[in-house]
Amino acid sequence: MSSDLNIIHASHLVRIQDSGEPRRGDLQGELNLLTDGAVIIRQGRIVGVGETQKVLNEFSDAVPTIDASGMSVLPGLVECHSHPIFAGRRHWEYVRKIQGATSRQIREEGGGIWSTILATREAEDGQLIDRAAEAYAKILAGGVTTLEVKSGYGLTMEQELRLLRLLRESAGRTPLDLVYTFLGAHIAPQDGPTPESWAREVRETVLPAVRKQGIAEFHDISCEDGDYSAPLAADLLKDSRQQGIPTRVHADASSDSRGWRTAVEGGAVAADHLTYTPDEEIRSIGATETIAVLLPIAEQFYLDPRRANARLFIQEQVPVAIATDYCSSFQATSLLLSISQACSWLRLTPAEAIVGATLNAAYVLKRNHDRGSLDIGKRGDLTILDCVHPNEIGVSIGAPLVRQVVSQGQVIYQYGA
Ligand SMILES: [Zn+2]
Repeated sequence: MSSDLNIIHASHLVRIQDSGEPRRGDLQGELNLLTDGAVIIRQGRIVGVGETQKVLNEFSDAVPTIDASGMSVLPGLVECHSHPIFAGRRHWEYVRKIQGATSRQIREEGGGIWSTILATREAEDGQLIDRAAEAYAKILAGGVTTLEVKSGYGLTMEQELRLLRLLRESAGRTPLDLVYTFLGAHIAPQDGPTPESWAREVRETVLPAVRKQGIAEFHDISCEDGDYSAPLAADLLKDSRQQGIPTRVHADASSDSRGWRTAVEGGAVAADHLTYTPDEEIRSIGATETIAVLLPIAEQFYLDPRRANARLFIQEQVPVAIATDYCSSFQATSLLLSISQACSWLRLTPAEAIVGATLNAAYVLKRNHDRGSLDIGKRGDLTILDCVHPNEIGVSIGAPLVRQVVSQGQVIYQYGA
């Protein structure tokens, strides 16, 4: 569905003009702000962007119009990392963690990601879709228009194909635009297969089946000592590339596992987490095409002071994206909160984090050709926030800033409606 819509008199229009590559270095924080800005959408596409009076002189036809006085208008937020399809509830584990229990103790008490996998395998299809749809509603209310969704809580071929199928079915329950990722080598199986044997099965059997199924656009791989070591991840990256499926990597989330290097050398589109990536590895690799996806809320949930060296990635000319990481461990739904936490936790400026959650995130999902910025020709996807300046995202912690979310010229979320 696509519509005509004018948005006028935005206090700040956050254009983030797309120059044809992800933002890096000094440009990471360039928002291309315009005051008293307008966006003109016809048949779902942006046809005009500029100062309100000037643009209205050119487009004088009567169409539905939003007066965004006092508001900041951003490109529709792109959430590029989520795991929304699972069963079970793990809130008790967080309590145990706060009380000082180790991950091993929690696993022995019946928790951990493995417990999610067992519960997900047992759950009925409808239950899983309902749960995902609940997550989508909350993520949408946080201003997102495009959401990446991963499988990964199945860990057998049959279950992974099922989760991808259910994710696609779940698209009927939300106006969010979903992008599907196959996450096969997620954690080490605990019911027989070794990481080596499951990784081989993924390469030889599951990946071809996923490709045949035709839902997943990306293949995500964990590179973490204790789960899938760097050599195993490198083999998966290589096979995926040969089979024509672009890759991403969960890298260095809980230990220095050579994850960043493995992702870059394996030609991954993005590497996510990077909490434990050593500075020396970031420096010796330098500028890359691989985008660093940083997850400040996930890091805080670990209750560990360690954090990704966001500033060093930017200094080294690595494009940085920001994501929330909704998953079975913690159900964070607000990308705006991730932006503000990227400031306080990772010391990005609000502008750097906003670019990370719009244009650079669109590059992560290979959707940069039609979203992530307010440029003529792109989709009319935008997020209207109740703040005069976009920097206020960084300081309005927990405030419900989102007034409207627009997808292809259609209002898909209205605050208070
Ligand atoms: Zn993840």
